[in-house]
Amino acid sequence: MPSLKLPPLAAAVQKNLLTRIGEPFNVSAPNSTRVGVITNCDTDVAYSFDDAPYIWHQELNQLFAQNNAKATFFVNGNNWGCIYSPENVKALQDSYAAGHLIGSHTWGHVHMDEMTPQELDEQMDLIEEALWKILGIVPAVVRPPYGEANAQVVAQLNARGYTVVTWDVDSGDSVGVVAADSIARLQAFKYPQPHMPLNHEMYQSSVDTVAPAMLPYLKKQGYKMLTIAQCLNGVAPYKIVGKPQQRDETWTCGKDHAPPSASR
Ligand SMILES: [Zn+2]
Repeated sequence: MPSLKLPPLAAAVQKNLLTRIGEPFNVSAPNSTRVGVITNCDTDVAYSFDDAPYIWHQELNQLFAQNNAKATFFVNGNNWGCIYSPENVKALQDSYAAGHLIGSHTWGHVHMDEMTPQELDEQMDLIEEALWKILGIVPAVVRPPYGEANAQVVAQLNARGYTVVTWDVDSGDSVGVVAADSIARLQAFKYPQPHMPLNHEMYQSSVDTVAPAMLPYLKKQGYKMLTIAQCLNGVAPYKIVGKPQQRDETWTCGKDHAPPSASR
């Protein structure tokens, strides 16, 4: 391996990953973590989707490509489906190749506040390992499911090298707001006020109605459509960037890691 000059945090992550995965990799680790909970961009708009990937993920990839826009996807390992399914692997690889940000949303869409530090570490380890295998990256941005993260949880995530983000405007899709009302919420944006809107990709109207209306609108307003790492000046997108692995028998969600039921 080439000699690597890693910041201490990335070195710790590397050691942890090597212990779990046992594969050598190249590291390119810019590392700037913003502490606390970040609720908005510094500039422009970062359009984000939680509970990724879902069956319409490739439609989003096409839509964002058509609009020359970047998205941020917060992914679960095992929530609406298993991250290791061939369709989900391909969808995430296509998203990553397109320059969208892939962030952590925990393995099983858990309530972080209800976990012990060890349980939370396991949740973060599992999704890190999956994204390392599938994309060759370890994420550095996390959105807590339900937006729930108390001070202790935030401190633990920051110490793991994560910038913790929520959102400034909720499209309301997860609580039944209809598409027209979601669009109205998002069309209240006035350039150059920054925004970090929340959407969920398992609601079809968010994919086939709201986003197609919003991306051209925001561009026309004058916004750049950035990833969350891009809209937060100096925040690292990933803790480690390497190469994806080859599928093997460990690419499975397994019954031990299933959540009780799919969650928003
Ligand atoms: Zn969620």
